[in-house]
Amino acid sequence: MLAKKKLLVVTDLDGSLLDNSYSWQAARPALQCLKTLKIPLVLNSSKTISEMKYFTHSLGTLAPVVAENGGLLAVPQESGLLDQPKDFHHSANDWIQVTGLSRDFILSRAHSLRVAEGYLFEGFADWSDAMVTEHTGLSSAAASRAQSRHATEPILWKDTLARRATFERSLAKDGIRLLMGGRFLHLMGPADKASGTVAVKALYQKAMPDVEWVVVALGDSQNDQAMLEVADIAVVIPHAGGRHISPQGPDVRIASMPATAGWNEAILTIIRDELGSSALL
Ligand SMILES: [Mg+2]
Repeated sequence: MLAKKKLLVVTDLDGSLLDNSYSWQAARPALQCLKTLKIPLVLNSSKTISEMKYFTHSLGTLAPVVAENGGLLAVPQESGLLDQPKDFHHSANDWIQVTGLSRDFILSRAHSLRVAEGYLFEGFADWSDAMVTEHTGLSSAAASRAQSRHATEPILWKDTLARRATFERSLAKDGIRLLMGGRFLHLMGPADKASGTVAVKALYQKAMPDVEWVVVALGDSQNDQAMLEVADIAVVIPHAGGRHISPQGPDVRIASMPATAGWNEAILTIIRDELGSSALL
């Protein structure tokens, strides 16, 4: 007997589901469609759990979230996906799993190298909420949500590029990577948005073994590339002017418009196609 197929949507936030003003209003039709068809919507971002919970609450989704670039998984207890989780700890209404290295470990290594070698950098751990606001432009409430980190540390590098390469090599011995984001250099463990996506798919597969999950991933930046490459259907959200990343995969589509409007159109098209081919039962 053929397995029942279901879509599992995994999405980046900034520049994908969210527009420049952090709004998802232009994606309302597609979001409503996902809700009606009970298609899970998994948020997968470099943001913290606290920042992402703000969006899951306003979107009304109970799906797991992948936070801090794959370093952390939060599974709402209400989702029923986990029964007696072993590697998770309990936090408010979620089961939380640090899938990579802990921020405490990352900070201890980075800060001892700073003391020993005199590297010039500063990061969120050195800053008060007010200083995070100053460096990011976030509101004070949003800065506090951005400060509650568990698996990554954003820093501003103020030393030479040559010394940055030495710093990177030293951290690599402990499995810590440096990833350049839009504004900050992120210190993080080996987990990424792709491993987070695979982990969430495995949770659904375990909870509903008779379903064949078809992962649809949407993203716009370099740090989304690996996530798009583990998806069954990859949707690249272009930037203004048409520039876009080029992941490899069996089914890669480029959305017709940037950000939220492109996200909306791509999801509606995929749902229409899947329903039309009767592949989605
Ligand atoms: Mg993005």
